[in-house]
Amino acid sequence: MKLLEERILKDGKVIGGDVLKVDSFINHQMDPALFREMALEWKRIFEGCGINKILTIEASGIGIAAVAGLEFGCPVVFAKKSKSSNTPEHSYSATVKSFTRGTVNDIYVSTKYLNPGDKILIIDDFMATGEAARGLTQLVKEAGAELIGIGIAVEKAFQPGGEELRSMGIRVESLARIKEMSEENGIVFVD
Ligand code: 5GP
Repeated sequence: MKLLEERILKDGKVIGGDVLKVDSFINHQMDPALFREMALEWKRIFEGCGINKILTIEASGIGIAAVAGLEFGCPVVFAKKSKSSNTPEHSYSATVKSFTRGTVNDIYVSTKYLNPGDKILIIDDFMATGEAARGLTQLVKEAGAELIGIGIAVEKAFQPGGEELRSMGIRVESLARIKEMSEENGIVFVD
């Protein structure tokens, strides 16, 4: 998606070779107009698939997924990371290692919000090792729901997550795919 690629080139910052900082339009300050264009692109890609629910993971997937939910006209569920006094009694859960923080979290979704028969689109901001997407996929499976596909804003295609999920037969649609990046030479996208 040209618009997203151009924005990454303009405002993204490569840190240490494998982290792309996009704090000015995705991960801290958000650009809802850009999110709407991304949502419309996923809507076009997944047209006719019968998606009735979007699933993401807190925190940075939520803004993108909420705008996507508006365009798809469906609810958006986010997997929570930390258990609290609010934790539902009945939940689906998976274990996910965070790429950026290095911590391991149990993620969970109440059984109320994922149901057999749901046709799910997973949305997230980044794909790196695929840990987050695999964890979300596991929640969908546990619920007996159907995974239609995964929509990712920025896939770092030089990391293995996207290809591993595709090789499992999962449809992964990334709007910007980075072939290589470095602080010295900048960012190159997959053609
Ligand atoms: P994965 O689970 O695929 O290894 O990593 C995906 C998650 O880690 C995303 O939810 C995202 O929040 C975070 N992440 C991974 N790589 C990057 C990156 O280069 N930049 C930013 N801002 N977040 C990333």
